[in-house]
This record gives sequence, C-alpha cells and structure tokens, in this order.
Amino acid sequence: MRQEIIIRQVLVGPLEVFSYVVACGHTREGVIIDPGGDEEKILEVIEKERVAPRYILNTHGHADHGLANEVLKQKLDIPWCLHEADARFFAEPEAKAAIEKELGALSLLQPDITLKDRDVLKVGDLEIQVIHTPGHSPGSVCYLTNGNLFTGDTLFVGAVGRTDLAGGSLEILLNSLKEKIITLPQETVVWPGHDYGDTPTSTIGREMQENPYITDFILEG
Ligand SMILES: [Zn+2]
Ligand SMILES: [Zn+2]
Repeated sequence: MRQEIIIRQVLVGPLEVFSYVVACGHTREGVIIDPGGDEEKILEVIEKERVAPRYILNTHGHADHGLANEVLKQKLDIPWCLHEADARFFAEPEAKAAIEKELGALSLLQPDITLKDRDVLKVGDLEIQVIHTPGHSPGSVCYLTNGNLFTGDTLFVGAVGRTDLAGGSLEILLNSLKEKIITLPQETVVWPGHDYGDTPTSTIGREMQENPYITDFILEG
C-alpha cells in the first residue's frame, strides 16, 4: 500500500516550516499540508509530480504554517481546512491579538472548511483521517493516511511544539500524545512541521524510545 502514496517534504518560509504535498499514486489527486510560504516551491513539486490538489490542510492556525494558504487557494481554486477549535479560538479578538504579537505575523483568515476529530477526507484512493491533538494550540490536529502521520507542531523528531503561546498547554499536549498518538502502530511514519530533529522524519516507535517528552513525561509518569 505504501508505494501507492506520493509524499514530498518541502522546507518553506522564513520560519522553516515543513510543507507536504501528499497524493494518491493512482489518481494523482492530493492535498497540500501547511503551505508556510514559498508557494513557487510548492507549485513546482505539484507540477513535477503531476498532482491535482483538492484541499489545503492546516495542522493548526498559526500564521507561519499558512503563509501561502490564500495565494494557493486562489491559484488552484481549492478550499483550505482547519480544525474548528482553532478557527474559533483565533477569531476571538483577544487571542488574535495575543498570537499576532507572539508570532510577529498577522493571523490566518478563516478557513473554508472546519474539521472535527475523526473526520475523514477522501482524496483519490487515499483516506486522510483527522486526529484532534490539542495542546500546541486548541485546534491542533495530526493527519493520518496509509501509515503516515503529519504532526505539525504537536510532535517533532525528539521534541514537541511550544505550549507557551496563546491557547497552549503542555498538560493537554502530553495527554493528546498519550491517548491518540503513541497508541498508533509503532511503524507509523512521523512527518513533523519543522526540521528540528537530527533526521527529517521518524516513527512512533523511535519517538517512544528517544523523545524525552514521551519517555520521561508519559511513559515514566
Ligand atoms: Zn505552531
Ligand atoms: Zn510551527
């Protein structure tokens, strides 16, 4: 099954976000996950792989992960999607002002489609499952398809995302990992939202052995 999916990892934008082009190997229909800038780099990958994008999927509502949302949405004529909790949270004037100050960038506009936990998006032969993993932000999600987990700022290789930003909570993030992420098969491939680790990808099994947030705070605790 694995070879029937196309995954391209693209490092983009001023904050070095990992964007992903993910597509069905049969129909070439796909999605763009977290287009954090450099839309020409992303469009180049789409063209090279002959992918027909259907959705833009954001792992959470922080502006650095969606700097190219609007331009790609216009260019490709596709909707962009965000979990309902982040759509709601970052629409509140207080949270919006706080996060704009913290990230030094204007907030994202409102999404075209709001997602819920366990929603499934069908894209070609792929089924992409939404896993709500709050903690880095109230509406952070991971996207799971064919044994591949796109973790945004919830889980990095060897670390987790910041929880000191507006709406963040380390306790909630650790609980999300405990309940919904480390319960996935060990061989599940982790595709993070930033290149902060010693390798650009990992697996759930490796993170359970080497990620101190998991080994010290979840498995020991
Ligand atoms: Zn973030
Ligand atoms: Zn980030």
